[in-house]
Amino acid sequence: MIRVGVNGYGTIGKRVADAVAAQPDMKVVGVTKTSPDYGAEAAIQRGYDLYAAIDDRSGAFEDAGLGIAGTLGDLLDAVDVIVDCAPAGVGERNRPTYEAHGVSAIYQGGEDAALADGSFNARGSPEISDADSLRVVSCNTTGLSRLLAPLEEAYGVEKARVTLVRRGGDPSETDRGPINDVVPDPKTVPSHHGPDVNTILPDVDIDTAALKAPVTGMHTHSVNVTLDEQPTSAEVRELLRAEARLFLIPEGSGIDGAGTLKDYAADVGRPRGDLWENCIWEESIRAEGRDLYLFQNVHQEADVVPENVDAIRTLASDASREASVTRTNEALGVGL
Ligand code: NAD
Repeated sequence: MIRVGVNGYGTIGKRVADAVAAQPDMKVVGVTKTSPDYGAEAAIQRGYDLYAAIDDRSGAFEDAGLGIAGTLGDLLDAVDVIVDCAPAGVGERNRPTYEAHGVSAIYQGGEDAALADGSFNARGSPEISDADSLRVVSCNTTGLSRLLAPLEEAYGVEKARVTLVRRGGDPSETDRGPINDVVPDPKTVPSHHGPDVNTILPDVDIDTAALKAPVTGMHTHSVNVTLDEQPTSAEVRELLRAEARLFLIPEGSGIDGAGTLKDYAADVGRPRGDLWENCIWEESIRAEGRDLYLFQNVHQEADVVPENVDAIRTLASDASREASVTRTNEALGVGL
């Protein structure tokens, strides 16, 4: 059993905890919170042992009537792998603590690539051995890596150009925006997402540009890839359909955006209405000469979750990538 702790029980952390708990070869030893808010209460209700992320806040949990099992140090003493799901940049501050406890660590995409021994995506990264830490790349980079890896293998990618329409904030982020505009990011063109994809797929030539929109559900990517070869649209659809973590939205399904996608996910019983897969409109997959076009949506709260599970196995087991992905997908029910 791989013993796992989650440091930072927020949007990503609570989902990672549930995904780890679903794995037959893993156990959630506990999760941390910085304060005794509704998330802390929910963690206890879900059966997780709660630890104080910051030592001198332990009393606040007791005052709020929430029993804690200890502090972060106690959790680190009891795990093989800690998954850092603290806000972007906080992982860097936490690293010395993890190292002092000799614990393998996984960081999220908000951290600099240099923080960990390597960046990770289960589809795009090569097999990794001898790493003590990994950074699971961001939701957008995860979605792009899963898409571009099979295209590169099958046809070669001469150049990828992607426009990312980013959600303004997650549903629980009541202080984010915009609320009444679509805001381009003119200062960073091309955006940082392309170089981040290169931490996973170093040989893919990719440029990206990003805008923020007043939505919370999902990111939307408008993708144009110039390939080395000239596959037909049907061939590309078959190639992408074979990828377990890509969902091709069928023509005629009535799914026309993030609203209907999330509704579908909830209807089929997905926890929290989560979509772990890239959601690609099948009709939009058009090959014209060497140019390929498509639209995909990425559920920012969810797509990195199975990747975190595979990153844990990479650090703490001998399982091959293929075996880990199969196991993760089966345990969670990835694949629509
Ligand atoms: P979040 O704000 O929803 O959750 C972070 C949690 O960490 C909160 O519960 C917060 O209280 C807690 N925290 C704060 N300081 C802490 C500390 N010192 N130690 C431990 N916990 C602390 O953030 P999130 O959206 O889950 O993002 C976490 C990481 O995942 C970031 O690196 C982010 O860039 C990345 N990520 C986020 C998304 C997304 O869309 N939400 C997608 C992919 C990757």
